[in-house]
Amino acid sequence: MENLKILLSEKDIPHSWYNLSADLPFRLPPPINPATKKPLEKKDLSAIFPDVLIEQEVSQKKWIEIPAQIRDIYRLWRPTPLRRARRLERFLKTKARIYYKDESVSPTGSHKTNTAVAQAYYNKKAGIKRLATETGAGQWGAALSFACNVFSLGCRVYMVKVSFHQKPFRKSLMHMWGSEVIASPSSLTESGRRILKEDPHCQGSLGIAISEAVEDAARNKDTNYSLGSVLNHVLLHQTVIGLELKKQLRIAGEKPDYLIACVGGGSNFGGIALPFIKEKIKNDKLQIIAVEPSACPSLTKGKYCYDFGDTAMLTPLLKMFTLGHNFIPAGIHAGGLRYHGCSPLVSALASKEIIQSRAYHQIEVFKAAVIFAQTEGIVPAPETAHAIKAAIDIAKNDNKEKCIVLNFSGHGFLDLSSYDKFLSGELKNYAHPLKAIKNALKDLPKFS
Ligand SMILES: *Cc1c(COP(=O)(O)O)cnc(C)c1O
Repeated sequence: MENLKILLSEKDIPHSWYNLSADLPFRLPPPINPATKKPLEKKDLSAIFPDVLIEQEVSQKKWIEIPAQIRDIYRLWRPTPLRRARRLERFLKTKARIYYKDESVSPTGSHKTNTAVAQAYYNKKAGIKRLATETGAGQWGAALSFACNVFSLGCRVYMVKVSFHQKPFRKSLMHMWGSEVIASPSSLTESGRRILKEDPHCQGSLGIAISEAVEDAARNKDTNYSLGSVLNHVLLHQTVIGLELKKQLRIAGEKPDYLIACVGGGSNFGGIALPFIKEKIKNDKLQIIAVEPSACPSLTKGKYCYDFGDTAMLTPLLKMFTLGHNFIPAGIHAGGLRYHGCSPLVSALASKEIIQSRAYHQIEVFKAAVIFAQTEGIVPAPETAHAIKAAIDIAKNDNKEKCIVLNFSGHGFLDLSSYDKFLSGELKNYAHPLKAIKNALKDLPKFS
């Protein structure tokens, strides 16, 4: 009988994060300072990030040691299990072997705590008193709240207004860990006030909430900004996922044919995929697949160019696949995947066709989620269900003895109201808004 769980012990928690930049055969296009149109300098970021994280953002060191205090917190839930989805395989009648790396066992139920703990630690060490951040569906806000509580830091979360009202329970989690949660756009910042003047009923977007949090951090000396995805240092912290996975696959005697993860800003995808990229570049039949919603299709329908990370154009310009910083995606239920851009590192890999991408509509994604819950027993987050949908499709189409591994980025226990809507037939597909994309792409900054 094959093992359903491949478990590691605490001593297998990685001692270093893996920095792919050091191993890439090409240089990543640098972030650009929008005022000077020159590559960003480290000092440009020091108003909002601690030096260590800025250093990690641009580092060319291959291995970056994980401080003992961070590993000690990781021990609360790491190493995470690698599970074999045997009952799903049987249901699909596939010869493929499907595994999932289960990041849902973290305190807040997603992979985001891997970087939240690291970011809170470095800010605390730098003498910062408070972090400001944004959150969409609330996964990041909850993860950073947990981490700030661990290190006795204050935390203010600008939460996209539509989720603030529709998803009250992640707000409860943030409050439990002592954070202040503000519905964004708010009247606390200039960016928020400007948006509200134009549209008092604006339901918000991640791009707007980022503007508010960045502004808050830039204006307050004791406050820094923290981002839950997109940036190199965030993906770096997430590589614990892929590093553990490599050990687990070795124990299972497996070599993956497919690695699959959903993509919002790219952090859980980066976490599982980056440690495999070097092998992939060398040869390999390994296919690495990023999955996104058709309603917010940055990798599959966006443009690879420099754009702002936020709506108010406060952030540096990043070269990435983008739908335009003014793109406000439809209110789909995978809130964590509603970002106009994508990590520059993941975007570069996609532009060089080292990785592939595909998009799905939300109803087929929810169907896949229910199949997974009925066979494996865990309710996936709607974001995670995108990766599950792709894995199911591949297992059906490539019905050979292939090894498929997906990143189970989080559980959906706080998304049950979305599942209720799906089960009662209220959920709709959003046709991908080509016109909206075209319009938002008109506002790209004049820089290339
Ligand atoms: C936030 C989130 C995502 C998307 O963010 P990435 O940075 O692309 O990983 C995916 N899954 C879950 C469960 C999330 O909370």
